Amino acid sequence: MKLSTKKILISACLLGEPVRYDGKSISIKDKTICYFQQQGYLVPVCPEVMGGLPIPREPAEIIKGVGDFPDRKVITQGGFDVTEAFQRGAERTLEIALQNNVIAALLKSNSPSCGNLQIYDGSFSGRLIEGFGITVRVLKEAGIPVFNELQVSLLCDFIEQQG
Ligand code: SF4
Repeated sequence: MKLSTKKILISACLLGEPVRYDGKSISIKDKTICYFQQQGYLVPVCPEVMGGLPIPREPAEIIKGVGDFPDRKVITQGGFDVTEAFQRGAERTLEIALQNNVIAALLKSNSPSCGNLQIYDGSFSGRLIEGFGITVRVLKEAGIPVFNELQVSLLCDFIEQQG
């Protein structure tokens, strides 16, 4: 694996940090991620906590606005608008990514911040739809590719292609 001085941004919850809305973590046992961690390649971030939200916190989902994509909001299950905190966390995440010269991001699937392929549909019914989280949007706009924890082999392919 040729990473040299490049780093990989990673959702902190995937490394066992208890930063999720419910105060839990998702420690995944992936040999490649363990290797990256041992080599010091990983830069952990939790956009929601960096945006100022507490642990634990109410679950939140993206509600699509009518019309353009930026009109969408992030609303908690109790109806509180947390869009600003999510956006602040996304921008802070991008700053950290740029400061660390990251080559890609490996983020938790389905999250309203970190999901790169699907997100919950805003009805808090557990239904997933195509889309991506607030932080993923900011990273993609900056040209940083985002993979999820089920796409580690794709991430490795990408790194190999970078030479
Ligand atoms: Fe994990 Fe991202 Fe949610 Fe933080 S915002 S708990 S890193 S999925």
